[in-house]
Amino acid sequence: MKPLHWFSGTLAASCLALTGCSQPEQHTAVETEADSSLAWYQRDTEMNPRLAEYIKTLSSDEFQGRAPATAGETKTVAYLEDHFRRIGLKPIDGDSYKQPVSLVQIDPVQVSGMALNGALETTLTYRDDVMAWTTRVVDGVELKDSEMVFVGYGIVAPEYDWNDYEGLDVTGKTVVMLVNDPGYATQNPELFNGNAMTYYGRWTYKFEEAARQGAAAALIIHETEPASYGWGVVAHGSPIKFDLISDNKNMDRSKIEGWITAETAGRLFAANDTDIETLRAQALSGAFKPVPLNTTASVSVKNNLRELVSSNVIGYIEGSKYPDETIIYMAHWDHLGMDFSNPSNPVFNGAQDNASGTGAVMALAEYFVQQPQPERSIAFILVTAEERGLLGSAWYAEHPVFPLEKTVAAINMDVMNVYGPMEDMVIVGLGNTDVEEILVKYTKQQGRYAVAEPNPEAGIAYRSDHFSLSKKGVPILYASGGNDHYQHGAEWGAAQRAEFNRCCYHKVTDQWRDDFDLRGTQQDMFLYFRVGNELANSRHWPNWYPGNEFRAIRDASADARQ
Ligand SMILES: [Zn+2]
Repeated sequence: MKPLHWFSGTLAASCLALTGCSQPEQHTAVETEADSSLAWYQRDTEMNPRLAEYIKTLSSDEFQGRAPATAGETKTVAYLEDHFRRIGLKPIDGDSYKQPVSLVQIDPVQVSGMALNGALETTLTYRDDVMAWTTRVVDGVELKDSEMVFVGYGIVAPEYDWNDYEGLDVTGKTVVMLVNDPGYATQNPELFNGNAMTYYGRWTYKFEEAARQGAAAALIIHETEPASYGWGVVAHGSPIKFDLISDNKNMDRSKIEGWITAETAGRLFAANDTDIETLRAQALSGAFKPVPLNTTASVSVKNNLRELVSSNVIGYIEGSKYPDETIIYMAHWDHLGMDFSNPSNPVFNGAQDNASGTGAVMALAEYFVQQPQPERSIAFILVTAEERGLLGSAWYAEHPVFPLEKTVAAINMDVMNVYGPMEDMVIVGLGNTDVEEILVKYTKQQGRYAVAEPNPEAGIAYRSDHFSLSKKGVPILYASGGNDHYQHGAEWGAAQRAEFNRCCYHKVTDQWRDDFDLRGTQQDMFLYFRVGNELANSRHWPNWYPGNEFRAIRDASADARQ
């Protein structure tokens, strides 16, 4: 039991417990092959005995649900900085580990009904039929008599020779489009990755593309299955939006972005003597042409704006030979804050989401500083505002502390496995980058097996912070223990996850539980460590596999890695 004896209870614990223990010992004996005489679930089960303490502390009521730019943030960021300082990571700005992130809170205090005139004469009710907002950082916007046009999936993908806007100038118009991508609809693996969602299927991409095309408004038709969440997620959550403060205050975005229900779309199409299935078939035909809907849309939105500053917390180990080449470990420290309408239990503690990932990065960093100095640098980046739209990581990607073109890879931790040793290691986006080959190697050594995520159609590959770096071409890894529990098996594991999603995900009930079994988390941390440590002591530059949507972006900076 190499790690444990290395981290032998008394010695290691006492060393770590001593706050004065600033100069971590340099241990020559790095860890070696896992002890194969042990059953796989007995190996690597404790990298850092303080992991539970970190998760418990971050998810305690004291931290007030860790919302950006609140007292909860102040407490959290101070705790993280203290930790980085105590274990001896290098700060990024004088003796500060903070990277300020400029955010704006856009609170749509007044949204009118959406008046439709023409083929369909009606007024759509906010939240029931339509959700509409603006990401423009302005007090208000007004959309007036904007012609509506159906644009299929609203996708422009040269690599698939696909352009839903072909032959139509949508400047000033309101585009209406389907959710997800043609691959999901056809299950054709050659087309948009088949069942696995591509970025083109994500709502964020569709609004970005509509803005690029000059649309005044962009409305996605909500269908539960292709969206993989219900109308409730779209319409019943808080309408308050956060965004990064860009120089042009997002004036290059469409005036109005939003969703309409499938039922509302059905009425609009019926008024044009067609229906959603006919239009979907047209959209998939390959010869699709945008379809005018002979109806205009009008709506107005009034905002309350609040500019605020939050912080990413960043510390690093400088490489001995190639200090400007960096491996990143990341996790978001933020969560949803407080629900004052629920006085009996107002705190969104966010134990699994994402005190578990933040605690894991803290514990991993503490382990790393006790290893021989790596040749390349290792950065630990705890980002803010993930829950508000991956904003902290997006800010980092726009203001990188370590050059992106020389960032070797990024390993993200978001909602760790707290249910005990799982034999399967689930890799999100399996088949995207060759970083996974290193992970698969060590997973096998640990006596486990690697698998793809069970629901690629949900687009998890685009729904956490690693995506902000993928978009910049940085090869990423997002993986964790799955459901195949060492004792109770896969059904039990799946049942635990399903129960978490039902009872606790993004609810005040996502709290620390004494029956959390962190041995699985620790096993995953050892795998993350081995992947990063191997990369940090090699000349290898991982990349996206040929044909992947981010490969071209990475290859564009290949010179920097020569
Ligand atoms: Zn999360």
